[in-house]
Amino acid sequence: MATVSAREISTNDRIIETVKRYWGFDALRPHQEQAILAGLQQRDSLVVLPTGGGKSLCYQAPAAIAARTDVVVSPLISLMKDQVDGLRQCGYPATALHSGMTAAQQRKEEETIAAGKYRLVFAAPERMVNSWFLRLIERINVRAFAIDEAHCISHWGHDFRPEYRQLALLKDRFPKASIHAYTATATERVRLDIVEQLRLQNPAILVGDFDRPNLVFRVVPRVDVYSQALDVVRRHKNQAVIIYCISRRDTEEMAAHLRQHGCKAEHYHAGMTPDERRRTQEAFSEEKLDVIVATVAFGMGIDRSDVRCVIHAAMPKSIEHYQQEAGRAGRDGLEAECVLFYSAADVMRWESLIEKSAAEAENPEEVIEASGELLGHMQRLASGARCRHRALSEYFGQAYPRDNCNACDVCLGEMEEVAEATVLAQKILSCVARVDQRFGAGHVTDVLLGANTDMIRRCRHDQLSTYGLLKESDKKELTNLVHQLVDQGVLVRTPGDRPILQLNEASWEVMRGQRAVRLCKPRSKPVKRARIDEVSWEGVDAELFESLRQLRHGIAKERGVPAFVIFGDAAVREMARRRPGTLAAFSCVPGVGQRKLADLGDRFVAQIRAHCEANGLSLDETMTSAPPRPTSKISPSRLAAQEMFRQGASIETVMAALGRARSTTSEYLAEFIMQTAPASIEAWVDRQTYARVANAVRQVGAGPLKPVFEKLDGQVPYDTIRLVARHLETVGDAT
Ligand code: ADP
Repeated sequence: MATVSAREISTNDRIIETVKRYWGFDALRPHQEQAILAGLQQRDSLVVLPTGGGKSLCYQAPAAIAARTDVVVSPLISLMKDQVDGLRQCGYPATALHSGMTAAQQRKEEETIAAGKYRLVFAAPERMVNSWFLRLIERINVRAFAIDEAHCISHWGHDFRPEYRQLALLKDRFPKASIHAYTATATERVRLDIVEQLRLQNPAILVGDFDRPNLVFRVVPRVDVYSQALDVVRRHKNQAVIIYCISRRDTEEMAAHLRQHGCKAEHYHAGMTPDERRRTQEAFSEEKLDVIVATVAFGMGIDRSDVRCVIHAAMPKSIEHYQQEAGRAGRDGLEAECVLFYSAADVMRWESLIEKSAAEAENPEEVIEASGELLGHMQRLASGARCRHRALSEYFGQAYPRDNCNACDVCLGEMEEVAEATVLAQKILSCVARVDQRFGAGHVTDVLLGANTDMIRRCRHDQLSTYGLLKESDKKELTNLVHQLVDQGVLVRTPGDRPILQLNEASWEVMRGQRAVRLCKPRSKPVKRARIDEVSWEGVDAELFESLRQLRHGIAKERGVPAFVIFGDAAVREMARRRPGTLAAFSCVPGVGQRKLADLGDRFVAQIRAHCEANGLSLDETMTSAPPRPTSKISPSRLAAQEMFRQGASIETVMAALGRARSTTSEYLAEFIMQTAPASIEAWVDRQTYARVANAVRQVGAGPLKPVFEKLDGQVPYDTIRLVARHLETVGDAT
């Protein structure tokens, strides 16, 4: 058995103590400890952790523990600023030097750096060749550099940035300093390249699990992207959503469409002035904006750790891009949803874009080949019907351990198969044959629908036997089916600006009935929210969560920082679950470090106490402790409770069967009522009491329960009032 030396024990204790003091976390996530140790021991390292894996902590902790100043290289000002804001809220001294500062501001910060007062200095890669800056950090004897988004150094990566190449000089200039590279996406080739380019010596290589269990992945056939995206956005009311589109125009049109339907949405792309972009970014971080619609090429600066949904209005050009973009969802570890609206037409679009950009490259053929390969992988992932979690993990060279992830469209059984798909395919293919394989999808679908267009009249295609053969269909849905046939290789779409549909051997096999075809369509039933977020909402008082979020919002506004740097959603949910009524209990909530306890504890505890008093809730709830790490599975006890309520079981029966407290069981029942909207709740509240409570609610209005409780002279318990109030909401009679 390996023995642990006393020195290691004390180092580990110091790590935990520091992490608790500044960030309020009791435990480290996988690989964080080794990464922090590498920083402390000044051993070069390459750390590959998925987005949300907790990379920042790995380079933030060593400098604080060793009381030294480290330098972090980061590609974007907005990312640096958010980190510095977040660190300062934790009482951690850090700064960023960037081009957005005035000369006077820079000088002031440089003086503080020279005095050794900061633990971390963030800077862009360009600054690493600025001799003034290099002399400054030499003077303070910087001993460690962290390179964030290190894949930007590699040609083989998907986001090469020439300025990163200059970082190769660091080893010459600072031979005694260690270099720590961090990235979320790196295939084997990119990893080797990072090590080589940065000239890392005997680096500790730490590669985390690529799977993100808190993300629910969905790939949905694109039929009408505006209304499909709107449906998804509506599932995430008042939450942060990022939508990626391929072109600038797409972003503008999508944002306008969402605004027309009452969403707080803005577009974001490289064609805007830096000032416009900054304003949009700030509005998003300040929660004035819920939805940001960005081009894939330009979404990197947009960040918020509480993004609950990432939508791709079209397929990205590689799995690396997809992983990075979709990975911006749920960085706080809480559940989030990633929806990709896919059509085979995206592939053609990328092919033509790749060809255009390759024409400007030195070696166009190589670029086309490499990009084509990446595109092919992405297309297979999107068009295939394999578990998305498995497909992503395996692409990055990791085995996926579960048979059913319970967190993707495939495993959740959300793909709706089109009935009689082969017959439908035969009709489409015959129509392609009838128009002599000389027309594109638009015309072929018009013929099948029996449309009356100039082209149809001119070509006399209204005389064809396939004219109007599918007149009951919808044009967009039919076009999507044509694309699915292309994806499956049973129909060919020629490349170029005016693609036409052609048949191949496989098409004839389908038409001769020698080959079956499967087609799918978006599910007509709406997606159940419950599947996504059951566990991480377990025991959370939703109203208290909302009121603490408002408090957080107000404090963030006072201080001019993004709300999530005050407290992340994970911490706020935990507060709304535990309802700490004292500072001591508040300090035990993960995410509450010493500074935040002293700085914010009173205001949060006061709000929690007031809410509990107004709603008759107990403080310091310990029954429902936090789930270890959220997954998207529905918690077994909640499921069991729902099933029992469905059969009309009483609260007492469910309490006894599940060993849960009355308050928790009653919360389950309130949720059950909200979700299923039963015609009557007589099984749990007798008719007379129901009428009394309903009357009181109508008189004092919906909202906090205390006024209702008082109106009823304290004769009806809060739990009962809550059940009636919820039921009134479901029948639209809450006010
Ligand atoms: P990455 O840079 O890898 O995308 P971050 O460093 O932004 O991830 O961390 C993601 C989230 O996880 C942040 O909200 C951070 O506060 C939280 N986090 C990091 N380490 C821990 C930990 N040990 N325990 C709990 N939360 C953590």
